[in-house]
Amino acid sequence: MITRSSALLQRPDREARPLSLQARWQTQLARAIRDPRELCRRLRLDETFWPGAERGHDLFEVRVPEAYLARIRPGDPSDPLLRQVLPLAEEALATPGYVADPLEEAEHAPAPGLIHKYAGRVLLIASPACAVNCRYCFRRHFPYEENAPSRAQWDESLEHIRRDTTIHEAILSGGDPLAASDRQLAWLVERLDAIPHLKRLRIHTRLPVVIPERIDDALLGWLSATRLQKVMVLHINHANEIDEAVIAACRRLSDAGVTLLNQSVLLRGVNDSVEALAALSERLFEAGILPYYLHVLDPVAGAAHFDVADLDARELVAGLREVLPGFLMPRLVREIPGERSKTPL
Ligand code: SF4
Repeated sequence: MITRSSALLQRPDREARPLSLQARWQTQLARAIRDPRELCRRLRLDETFWPGAERGHDLFEVRVPEAYLARIRPGDPSDPLLRQVLPLAEEALATPGYVADPLEEAEHAPAPGLIHKYAGRVLLIASPACAVNCRYCFRRHFPYEENAPSRAQWDESLEHIRRDTTIHEAILSGGDPLAASDRQLAWLVERLDAIPHLKRLRIHTRLPVVIPERIDDALLGWLSATRLQKVMVLHINHANEIDEAVIAACRRLSDAGVTLLNQSVLLRGVNDSVEALAALSERLFEAGILPYYLHVLDPVAGAAHFDVADLDARELVAGLREVLPGFLMPRLVREIPGERSKTPL
């Protein structure tokens, strides 16, 4: 099994620091639950859940940090946060149309760790690791081991951006880009900052939600130092994910001049009701985050049980429009390989 953690271990520039010298968020990351039985035990799920959890874990390893675990109701197998992280036997089912690389990203990688699909912006895989492994992730089969560049390989990506003056935005993605150390990120952002035609730095991350302590002074230091306009696109699927610690982290980001947006995935059994989606938008706004996209599921192998049919998705959004002001409405979109932008449904 190739996993994100094993890919990370192969990185030549990985900082192997003893736990005592790590930032608090790194300690949480290192201590995340990676054993499916332990996850079940901690959440008081009985032994009938073990075989399915182990089967799913064999395909895509379990990873849940304590800060996220604390927001899951013990003993409730239908908890919307648990459903996002608990491996299931269904993940082994082959479903027609569900594939390893649903967005065909391998076709658009001009350099290791660089994806150039859309006009004006490029996406850099800044870290192969995630703080949490989401069962529906469209990159659950992504070959991170081939896309975890060393600094020398970063130079190739940076040269691609330098040469193409039509690129105005660099998007840090992953994995989760904020799983990289602040030293690595500061190095990379400093070089992006020096490319005159770049205007914006966008960061796609789930870490401030999963481990809010990630938004610490060291991160705010390099983020505040760049001249680039800063946009952070968080990934939150349910209102219960936003606790007071997440709100405090978001406030620090806003104070540092970061525009906060959110993208969610419409997931069966997690947020597929008007009530859940409305509560999410309301809670996002309380945290200073604007709803941006509501994605329909990308057809990635192992995630078919999360699918919500297009007709149901449209009905949900119509219902949502009746209860929310326009500025709290996310755009319902699908990503279609080869299209120049997301496709509204
Ligand atoms: S944090 Fe994002 S990239 Fe990582 S597993 Fe979850 S959805 Fe995928």
